Amino acid sequence: MNTEHLLQAAKEAGLNRARPLASNFKVGAAFEFSNGAIFSGGNTEDRGKTIVGACAERNTLAAANNQMGPLSEYGIGGTVGWRQAAVWANTPGPITPCGICRDFMSATAVTPEAQVLSQCEGPSRSIFTIGELLPLAGRGPGGDVKDEIEAWRLNGGKITQLASSDSNPLISRAMVAADRSYVPPFSNEPISGASLLTEAGETHEGFLVIDATTRLGGTAISMAVRSALVGPAERTPRVIAVGLYTKGDVLRAPTGCDLQLLQEIRAKHGDVDVMFGCDKSAYKTTLDALLPHPFGRNDLGY
Ligand SMILES: [Zn+2]
Repeated sequence: MNTEHLLQAAKEAGLNRARPLASNFKVGAAFEFSNGAIFSGGNTEDRGKTIVGACAERNTLAAANNQMGPLSEYGIGGTVGWRQAAVWANTPGPITPCGICRDFMSATAVTPEAQVLSQCEGPSRSIFTIGELLPLAGRGPGGDVKDEIEAWRLNGGKITQLASSDSNPLISRAMVAADRSYVPPFSNEPISGASLLTEAGETHEGFLVIDATTRLGGTAISMAVRSALVGPAERTPRVIAVGLYTKGDVLRAPTGCDLQLLQEIRAKHGDVDVMFGCDKSAYKTTLDALLPHPFGRNDLGY
């Protein structure tokens, strides 16, 4: 399918099938898969009574998975992956997928070079690859990002290696927090911890919580954000740096979901330092580098 047809399919879905009851923000997405199939869909929101709403991109990939899946995971297993995507929104400028969608889109794309086209009600459009939108998606075994870091560096990615996890104060605090992680006995998820530094100079820690049934736990970073938000009511904490530690030899970067969360409570000015490490290595980069062209900042004003 050519680009114009895919964009048209995304627009049709956004105009006719989106259900944005809370935001009135209509979004449509269309994906072309490696077997030639096209799927499209809109975003779905309720009026705030539950948390079941989802973006157009994830709704569409979930529908494709249920009808012809399972979709492959970073090109491994499954039946198909997507090779081109289009997003349309009723906004003045083109939007980009949010961090949560970038996670799912990265995992189900046939290659990091798969293109994401975006158009809006205005004349401009944008084109990115999914690899540009989430450079450290964790394509290696167990979510390892070592190979992606090397490829990213060659492409100009701004990231530097640290001496070790315990040489960095924020990752060190995250290491202590990690030991409080809660995971069910059947899970093989490595434990992790996070530490946030706010503009006010406060630090807030979090650790991985995975529960077996309700799915209301969270990643170490999301739990640290919750801890920060439970502070004095007169102000929202603004994050200027974050450290993430994953126990073991597998090096993981913050997920797109975590990066989107940090994006929303970041300091108004300046970038956010992001440090992450495991028992073997540690790195330092920034939020703008890990989540370029973020959803929301310009389009929705936060
Ligand atoms: Zn999204």
